Amino acid sequence: MTPVRWDPLTGAPLLVAPARMARPHDTGPVAPGDPGPTPGPEQSACPFCPGSEDATPPEVWAERADHTLANRPGWRVRAVPNRFPVLPPEEGVHEVIINTPRHVTDLWDLSPSEMTAAIDGWAVREIAVREDPRGLWPFLFLNQGAAAGASLQHSHAQLIGLPFAPPLLVAREDAFRSALACPICAELADPHVARIVDTGPLTAWCPHAPPLSGTVRIAPRHHAPEWPAHPGEHLARIVRPLSAALAALVGTTAMNLWLHQRHPGGSDAFHWHLEIVPRRATLAGMELGAGVFSLLNDPTALADAIRLRAPSGAAPV
Ligand SMILES: [Zn+2]
Ligand SMILES: [Zn+2]
Repeated sequence: MTPVRWDPLTGAPLLVAPARMARPHDTGPVAPGDPGPTPGPEQSACPFCPGSEDATPPEVWAERADHTLANRPGWRVRAVPNRFPVLPPEEGVHEVIINTPRHVTDLWDLSPSEMTAAIDGWAVREIAVREDPRGLWPFLFLNQGAAAGASLQHSHAQLIGLPFAPPLLVAREDAFRSALACPICAELADPHVARIVDTGPLTAWCPHAPPLSGTVRIAPRHHAPEWPAHPGEHLARIVRPLSAALAALVGTTAMNLWLHQRHPGGSDAFHWHLEIVPRRATLAGMELGAGVFSLLNDPTALADAIRLRAPSGAAPV
């Protein structure tokens, strides 16, 4: 079966991946009629916990203790091909990056050093996909909680390498390329934009007009098209406390996180940024049918509340 189809009415690509229906899940029902998590001991059933390395395809990369063997315990961060990929391996990349050997569900339950290692691992794998000779479009994201599309609880990021240009990434490239001045630099220079924190080289804020309500955006203060080779330390200082504060304030731990940066060979006009998006509402008719979203929080008030709630962990260093 051809793995990519195109909607003739919108030009949008569609991945044909019926085998994904068979993937296990332990995060809760994802659709009406779904029986929910498979019963059984939660920890022993988790394919991402140490000791269950054989439950995933062989690792493509891991940060592990000296003298430990591949596909055995001893890793801190582990990247494996997705067992139920959206694309067959000959067409593209679909990897899972397991953030920690500990069975933790929420990003903020990672220790600072665990989160640093995890994000640095995301960068290692993202760079590998950028350098894939097939010229794939990389996209790095994290789903946390059933409402955000996660099927497994154990904290993990995902990386896809697509053999075509994804519409939203193309739209962003075009927006940066066609703007007279960089829109992210303009947001950072705007005194009315509600900043949450400036830490090291990074700033976090609630955009005036976010892609989804409640979005926190993180970007370097100085224009840079691509994230650095080791983004973990600086990002961990912001992502941990801010994601925890955001979840408490909006009342859900379900969230998506994704990276937007210059496509390989793309324009220097791009300004890389990471977005954390709480998922308290289901996307409904207006959003899915018309592409129109509504803002449920005043971004300025939300940024102020996050700042008050997460002052210590996000303090400048
Ligand atoms: Zn686990
Ligand atoms: Zn910029």
